[in-house]
Amino acid sequence: MYPDDRRDNWYKGQGYWSDVPEEKWKSWRWQLQNRITSVEQLEKYIDLTPEEKAGTRFAEFKLSLAITPYFFNLIDPKDPNCPVRLQMIPRAGETRTAPEELLDPVGEESTMPVEGLVHRYPDRVLFLVTDRCASYCRYCTRSRLVSNAQDYNFHPSFEAGLEYIENHPEVRDVLLSGGDPLLLNDTKLDYLLGRLRAIPHVEFIRIGSRIPVFLPQRINDKFCEVLKKHGPIWMSIHVNHPKECTEELYQACQRLSFSGTPIGNQSVLLNGVNDNPEIYRSLIHRLLMMRVRPYYLYQCDLITGSSHFRTSVEKGVEIIRALRGNTTGYAIPQFVIDAPGGGGKIPINPDYVEKVTEDEIVLRNYEGRLFRYPLNPTADKPIVEEPTGEVPLLV
Ligand code: SF4
Repeated sequence: MYPDDRRDNWYKGQGYWSDVPEEKWKSWRWQLQNRITSVEQLEKYIDLTPEEKAGTRFAEFKLSLAITPYFFNLIDPKDPNCPVRLQMIPRAGETRTAPEELLDPVGEESTMPVEGLVHRYPDRVLFLVTDRCASYCRYCTRSRLVSNAQDYNFHPSFEAGLEYIENHPEVRDVLLSGGDPLLLNDTKLDYLLGRLRAIPHVEFIRIGSRIPVFLPQRINDKFCEVLKKHGPIWMSIHVNHPKECTEELYQACQRLSFSGTPIGNQSVLLNGVNDNPEIYRSLIHRLLMMRVRPYYLYQCDLITGSSHFRTSVEKGVEIIRALRGNTTGYAIPQFVIDAPGGGGKIPINPDYVEKVTEDEIVLRNYEGRLFRYPLNPTADKPIVEEPTGEVPLLV
């Protein structure tokens, strides 16, 4: 267990901001107005390393620095390797671009029929509705446009996106993302969700958001009413490390669930953050405790200036192999690579198939034992000489 998954050990309270009235602390607008956005503010709380100082100076040209007070409390000021700190405080590695890295690593720009709307898969679209987030993750796949530090000047038109969806009856699934859609106010979200719900061929609406994790205060009663009104709206949140599972996130997930919102989690495999089977197991156990189903584990995209975050693909396979059979199946996400150049998400699994012949498939279970399963069982076949089941290990 890391360090102890029991809920009474999860972070709670206002930390550095203990003297702020609770009413303000619980206001998502107060949290946004009081974000940590500069080196000077960071240095009030943390002794920055030279790596961090260099990265922070570069941030205004790559991806802005912003951390909500709530999330900032989770950073260990004494530990430069704190997993929350690694995700949020820029480092010099961001200034180095490896030859394989790309500004648009998953090829979204080439499949954007109108600004902000990505139509890559036949039956679903990704609708980017804003370029702003509550806090900025240093490995963000969309750092080319998110926060506008690179002068992308992203101005999606809701009406153009909605019109495209209305005119494409093959689109049955719409994912709202960004930036973070939950930064839109309730009136705008109500409008957008209402328009989408009114399109007869749109069956499935999802929101991708890290706001519950950065700003659980945003998941208030009024917002939950909007979700209920247009539900079911599915939500994918983004938690990478067990430290991020706090009492406030737990309560936010309760409110989401009780408003009828199924929740999944997408995490990114990050060097020094969660590239360890024990830490990952702790994360997924905590997610289940919050009613969140682990959905995807992404190999870190080839985004410019992210090589210090990337692990080997084998590391992800090792984590999935360590989990399979050793924890609840519901807890195990699909490990994927979002293929560079727009190939989409491709699952990467440990190899459980030992061999396939005309008659049978031989499978390796989580303990390494081999089992056979007949491929053409028919009633008129003679009785098999060897029983189906475990194969004696020959190697
Ligand atoms: S919340 Fe999502 S879009 Fe925003 S910076 Fe993080 S990864 Fe990027």
